[in-house]
Amino acid sequence: MFASSKRLQSTGEITPFAGPPSRERLTVVQRGSSLELDHVSVVFRRAGEDVTAVRDVSLTVAPGEFVALLGPSGCGKSTLLNVLAGFRRPDMGAVRLNGKPHLGPTPLCGVIFQKYALFPWMTVLGNVAFGPRRLRIANPKAVARDMLDMVGLSSVANAWPSTLSGGMQQRVAIARALATRPSALMMDEPFGALDAQTRGLMQAELLKIWMQLRPTLVFVTHDIDEAIFLADRVVVMRTLPGAIGAEFEIALPRPRDPAVMETAQFLNYRRAIAGIIRSEALKVFCP
Ligand code: ADP
Ligand code: MG
Repeated sequence: MFASSKRLQSTGEITPFAGPPSRERLTVVQRGSSLELDHVSVVFRRAGEDVTAVRDVSLTVAPGEFVALLGPSGCGKSTLLNVLAGFRRPDMGAVRLNGKPHLGPTPLCGVIFQKYALFPWMTVLGNVAFGPRRLRIANPKAVARDMLDMVGLSSVANAWPSTLSGGMQQRVAIARALATRPSALMMDEPFGALDAQTRGLMQAELLKIWMQLRPTLVFVTHDIDEAIFLADRVVVMRTLPGAIGAEFEIALPRPRDPAVMETAQFLNYRRAIAGIIRSEALKVFCP
């Protein structure tokens, strides 16, 4: 079943391990799911009033695609991510995973938040092995070691999370999310709490991992450079209420090096996107 080295097409199913895991096997098993928002609206009740957080959003993310959702604070990015992850049902419209109704959280969708949310009472290895163990994947510790190896943290497998730097903790969180081999990964401002240097390193690291495993990736950020550097497509949100304002296909070659941020092509994307973001941010600032 795992003999072929060519990437398998998405069916959205989790394939159980047939034997001890190896890097090659993980690479073959990981497949991207398609995600679809179809005229989605979400309404919150706040202080006795209805607040429309996002209105009539339609978005299709192809298997293995890297999409950045970009917009100022309060434009509904986290709300949309929660809908895509199955944490919240839309009040109107539909959300589909691999073409089927997506009705709740599933191991197919991994989620990483800005706060690392590691279990403080478990070692690093215990944290990463937790998901595989719950899903009864064979050799959870071996799977966890493989993922820690991929994020370059094998040497701290037996450490407690609280003894690690923020960047290291977020790498553990990435390893933990990937250990259950989700076919889609949602990341909500995952590097927002890190210093600029660590953040740059984490972006490069994430691209390496994504190129290797190719899950479908939806990455929420308010940082324009981060969105352009990482994504195949940047979806810029409008605000009050949240909606999609513009989309940019990012035609920068891969693999990408941080030096690409100095190129004229990159700066052109930044200029175009910054104009939209600024006017949207002003709407929130002076409503
Ligand atoms: P972003 O992630 O882009 O900062 P959010 O998706 O968190 O934006 O929020 C979008 C809008 O919905 C904001 O106006 C926010 O105040 C509102 N909102 C989000 N979550 C809730 C909630 N649980 N109850 C009420 N209002 C909410
Ligand atoms: Mg948010």
